[in-house]
Amino acid sequence: MSTGSNPCKQELLKSEVPVPRWWKSKVEEIQEVVYNQVKRGEVQTLSVSPGERKVGMVIYGDPEPELKGTANFNSALGSGNPDAYYRRGPGVRKRPVFMILAGVHGQEVEGMVGAVSVIKIMETGKDIMGREQPVLKEKLEKLRLIVIPLANPDGRARVPYDGWVGLPEDEMTRYGQGTKKNGEMYRWLPSKAVHPMRGDVGMLGAYFDDNGVNMMHDEWFAPMSNTTKALLELVGREGPDLVYNLHGANIKPKILPVNYVPVSFKQKLADFATEAYRRLDEKGLPHLEVPEVTEDGPVGTVPPAFNMSPAFYHAGADLTMVIEIPHGCTARSGVSSYEAILDIQHVLFEAAADYLLGLRRNE
Ligand SMILES: [Zn+2]
Repeated sequence: MSTGSNPCKQELLKSEVPVPRWWKSKVEEIQEVVYNQVKRGEVQTLSVSPGERKVGMVIYGDPEPELKGTANFNSALGSGNPDAYYRRGPGVRKRPVFMILAGVHGQEVEGMVGAVSVIKIMETGKDIMGREQPVLKEKLEKLRLIVIPLANPDGRARVPYDGWVGLPEDEMTRYGQGTKKNGEMYRWLPSKAVHPMRGDVGMLGAYFDDNGVNMMHDEWFAPMSNTTKALLELVGREGPDLVYNLHGANIKPKILPVNYVPVSFKQKLADFATEAYRRLDEKGLPHLEVPEVTEDGPVGTVPPAFNMSPAFYHAGADLTMVIEIPHGCTARSGVSSYEAILDIQHVLFEAAADYLLGLRRNE
């Protein structure tokens, strides 16, 4: 890409690992797949970003409205009867609901490519690399599958790189969290201390939409982002059995802990992660540790944030998690190829499908 679109007006760095042709992560490339290449799925526009970019969504598999109850999730729990929200759980739904959300953070391109690969598999039987994926396709076809490959197109549009394998982590961080006016980087955690991100901004990080909102830490009771609001409504409407919120980091794959949820949820998440990691081990792919089942914010600690994961749970997702997919900047990622970054996600998608098919009502 020319440096013309580089908001930093600096030369782009070159990696020794070039981005392969099949790795499509640009806004236009993702929009092309969602809006022009989907024939079997149903395409909807979830929302329009502050930068006036569409947030597209592709849905496969019929819903089961007859299982919907008479109350929102919160009120159903208040009634002591979760079925008043949705009848779901083992043996109830014919099509368990799986939602794949990617690109909440615009520099975290890996999950976007994984989500597009799922759409390609559903449409053509071949993944984004062009490899046949009959087993994964057959499993995913039995679900109600909702794919949102790029939740924050504004952020993605600010990033001139399409992938990070072999590039310095600082370069990713500079575009990810952005800089102050003097060029100093905000970096990962300090960037969260300014929200919405406005004022002393040299280059707005890809974390944020064009209004400076990081959707992971939106205002849950009055969302600043229309996309956040639409996502919460979608979750409430669908009652997904499982949500993957695909993020990226320069670490080995990691399923993050979820806070402000019941212990039963935390145990279910730990069990899920244990099995998902076992499958990565089997394929020789890396991962970090299973999230611990612990109390939130013991005395003497800074309490954890109520981020998008508990928000999705409290809106109606039965199991939801953020998964960090490796950027591949350095050896700390445990991967050094784009193919491995994709393979990790295919393993995780199949783990999700098998988990969900275990809940399925067989006819
Ligand atoms: Zn992220």
